[in-house]
Amino acid sequence: MKNLWSDVDADVVVANYAKDGVNSDLALRVYTSRLIGGVPALVIHGGGNTSVKTTMKDFLGNEVDVLCVKGSGWDLATIEPAGLPALYREPLTQVRSWAEMSDEDMVKFQRLNLLDPASPNPSVETLLHAFLPHKFVDHSHTKAVLSVSDQKDGMAICKEIYGGKVAVLPYVMPGFSLAKATADLYDRHPDIEGIVLHKHGLFTFGDTAKQSYDRMIKLVSMAEKYIASKPAYRPQKTDMNARAAKIGDIAPIIRGACSVDNGGGDFSRLVMDFRTSRKIRTFVDSENIAKDGRRGVMTPDHIIRTKNKPLILPFAAALHMDSYKDTVAKEVSKYRKTYIKYFEKNNKKCGGIKTMLDPSPRVTYAPGLGLFGMGANAKAASVAADLAEILVATILDADRVGRYEALPEHELFDMEYWSLEQAKLGKSKPLPLAGQVAVITGGGGTIGAATARLFAAQGAEVAVLDRDSKAAKTVANECGGLGVGCDVTNTKDIDAAFRTVCETYGGVDILVSNAGAAWQSAMDEMDDDLLRRSFELNFFAHNKMAQQAVRIMKAQGTGGALLFNVSKQAVNPGANFGAYGLPKAATMFLMRQYALECGQYGIRANAVNADRIRSGLLDDKMIAGRSKARGLSEADYLGGNLLGLEVLAEDVAQAFLHHALSLKTTGDVTTVDGGNVSAMMR
Ligand code: ZN
Repeated sequence: MKNLWSDVDADVVVANYAKDGVNSDLALRVYTSRLIGGVPALVIHGGGNTSVKTTMKDFLGNEVDVLCVKGSGWDLATIEPAGLPALYREPLTQVRSWAEMSDEDMVKFQRLNLLDPASPNPSVETLLHAFLPHKFVDHSHTKAVLSVSDQKDGMAICKEIYGGKVAVLPYVMPGFSLAKATADLYDRHPDIEGIVLHKHGLFTFGDTAKQSYDRMIKLVSMAEKYIASKPAYRPQKTDMNARAAKIGDIAPIIRGACSVDNGGGDFSRLVMDFRTSRKIRTFVDSENIAKDGRRGVMTPDHIIRTKNKPLILPFAAALHMDSYKDTVAKEVSKYRKTYIKYFEKNNKKCGGIKTMLDPSPRVTYAPGLGLFGMGANAKAASVAADLAEILVATILDADRVGRYEALPEHELFDMEYWSLEQAKLGKSKPLPLAGQVAVITGGGGTIGAATARLFAAQGAEVAVLDRDSKAAKTVANECGGLGVGCDVTNTKDIDAAFRTVCETYGGVDILVSNAGAAWQSAMDEMDDDLLRRSFELNFFAHNKMAQQAVRIMKAQGTGGALLFNVSKQAVNPGANFGAYGLPKAATMFLMRQYALECGQYGIRANAVNADRIRSGLLDDKMIAGRSKARGLSEADYLGGNLLGLEVLAEDVAQAFLHHALSLKTTGDVTTVDGGNVSAMMR
């Protein structure tokens, strides 16, 4: 493990924060916290915590002793002084003499002692930091130390590696008792540089930020060296005598099997994030993966994001996809049953007071391919995938040293069903499109971008497709989605785009087939090529997109929505716009055809016909020309409808959203034009 400390950087950080009135103790605390947080092999995703003991002025202007400790919701990689709330030290140290304190009281007590009541909740390991006498305390969930500690004889191995430099504490659940036990252990060994919490992580401490950080890196490096001294371990590869199925084919099957049917066309869905690497393949392709893959999480708090055990599927051969679908359904059902049994058994032991979490897996191993992280949204899925990747690396190293062994199930249950975690349940209502994946074509344009923004704000994961990949990425960045360059008239582009979407999110629930363009010519003079070109984009592309979306939706078995932008031309022809109107009219019929044929799969098809929207189709120059030709101002031209209001791209987006959410509506066309009698549906 590389020591990243730099005197120059440290000085710069101290000088910069001094301008904001942050003292050098806290500035250095931020500096080394980030050094630790920036290395995934030390901590990831809010894991680990750090503290510094210093002095600050309180509300009354008195200089008081404080403990600044990581606040919940902050990540060490990006922490700021505000993420290390200050607490009065004196009362914190007093409670060490108490025999016990409940978790709820501990949280209350910690909040009670904040200098600024607006601070985030201090870490649940605050008292541990407070009870240790050192100025700086660092805590990580480092991969190398867990590889040597997550063993049956892990405590002995740690003693062998560290000798008297480190004390090892048997596992205790985080909270008041762990804080006391750690401080007592330190008192018995005042010369140590750190403490290994068995099967949990590593604490180091020191008089300066540098000393505590140096010790962290040194102790981690010693564990790494020990692992490297053992002969490399490569598990036996299982027999896979066939070509593996494609991720784009199996992801929707898994995603569908892990969804929950709430009735009435409503489903609770998960988003998936695919990962693969040589390490992942070594592990998931191994002969004993069924056994070796179910040994549990490397450190207790990962269980909240990944559950203790992954779903492990058999190898998917490309030629046997039909039977594979049944296999996945059976495996998921088995997984859920096992999880419910685990919950009921452990819940009984604590008086039956807990509320069961969703029993579906959060990580899936797919031999021959890699692994999937899964979660209620893309962020949660990516966190689960990151943690699964670190776990795989930890297990491979642990098996090199001896044999990986996690904490016993009941200890992990206590963490998964911690009262502090349970208290958060049901507090936030999911957004209307949460867990759904929307593919939006022409996403770089005005209407596509407005739709992507609205769908993302409603909780959907959006894949923004546009011929201009830069425009697609710009819009995707704005709404935290995926930007894909895709010419929707090119079959190869479409295939590649859907593959990327399936690898990134696991499937598709909503298609907004919006890309289009208008060519102008009178019918009697129209060049045949022009009409064919328009049909390619304004009709065939819609069908190609819909075909791919339906293939995925059928594999998922959780319905879906096909939404087409058919424009006013589909209903009400405009002079010289035949090349545009003809394929759009065909697309409106296409929508009806899909509604008819796919209703049995719960797939709905609807369209929006919009008019006079300032967009790629009707740009500023055209608006100026048309309003001039009619002797109108631009405002009067755009607002030339029954309501007298200009129609915006956002209004069209709203109509698409309405169709995405209206679970009992299919085969419908919604008009968004401010009212135009000749374009009314009849
Ligand atoms: Zn920890």
